[in-house]
Amino acid sequence: MTSLADLPIRDDLRGLTPYGAPQKAVRIALNVNENTHPVPDEVVAHVTRAVERALRSVNRYPDREFTALREQLAGYLSTASASPVTVAREQIWAANGSNEVIQHLLQAFGGPGRTVLGFPPTYSMHAIIAAGTGTTWVTGQRDADFRLSPATAAAAVDRHDPDVVFLCAPNNPTGTPLGLDTIAAVYEASRGIVMVDEAYAEFMPAGEPDALSLLPGRERLVVSRTMSKAFAFAGARLGYLAADPAVIDALRLVRLPYHLSALTQAAAVAALEHAPTMLRTVDAIREQRDRLLVELAGLGYAPHASWANFVLFGGVADPQATFEHLLAHDILIRDVGLPNHLRVTAGTPAETTEFLDVLARMAR
Ligand code: PMP
Repeated sequence: MTSLADLPIRDDLRGLTPYGAPQKAVRIALNVNENTHPVPDEVVAHVTRAVERALRSVNRYPDREFTALREQLAGYLSTASASPVTVAREQIWAANGSNEVIQHLLQAFGGPGRTVLGFPPTYSMHAIIAAGTGTTWVTGQRDADFRLSPATAAAAVDRHDPDVVFLCAPNNPTGTPLGLDTIAAVYEASRGIVMVDEAYAEFMPAGEPDALSLLPGRERLVVSRTMSKAFAFAGARLGYLAADPAVIDALRLVRLPYHLSALTQAAAVAALEHAPTMLRTVDAIREQRDRLLVELAGLGYAPHASWANFVLFGGVADPQATFEHLLAHDILIRDVGLPNHLRVTAGTPAETTEFLDVLARMAR
């Protein structure tokens, strides 16, 4: 049988492992930080009509500039941010998930001979996309409890002089908030592109300013978002970013023409037309996250502060055994490879209750 090692594969890909969150058919999936509430019926009906309309002209290539979608995303960002920001259509880029948005960014600003700086533990795909684009992944340390102060972050930028910096706010897999002061300090210290991955921004406490408020006057700053989490649209694959229009011009150089299908564009536009309805589960999810923080501590675990829709908890004597025990009860969570830790997504009240009940009955 042929193995990978037998192939004339790029030397820098030898020995790497692909992204591998386990995919299992379970009743309660709390492993990849989805919104576990289904899309509301009225939105399903609206999206279905939009996709049907799009199908009537699917013999033609889609709008390469996804103009209507960028307009909707700009409108959403301009109303969603706690700080008064106006984002124009020219500042928006979108692709099939924010993973692809990040890949475009590294295709344009990273690549062979260039470096991207990240702060592990952080979103595992950041390093994998770096590898795929031939960008060297370099890392900086975090402070106590996974926090990242302006001084610590800026010192890492000084040390590595990276072409690109990846920040993640709130950070996955830890849930840790990131201060705007740290983002500003990293921007000041660096000469390269600074990307803030805000996949979980909608779950931050209401009224907290996000990185969008830092965009004016910072032409190397990029804020990436997704419809996969709060919008409950993970299966549709729609991620996006906001940045200076010149950054968007750079991304046009590396994208494949027509990368967003007509069906994706139609579905996402229709969903965004119902943004408040799509987002109405956010408060309930935040409640379950806060409940997890309290009740996991009550069970003797050590949950970390989270501004996202998941909780990382320490104090797990044998993560593999706990993972398997939950799986035997048809509950899938995530072992992110941090010693004595596991991560769980905040689901519906019933899902959270069942997860906590199984844990409570388990001898630690
Ligand atoms: N960024 C972060 C921090 C994430 O956790 C995820 C998904 N787990 C993504 C980006 C990618 O999401 P998507 O490609 O579905 O937009």
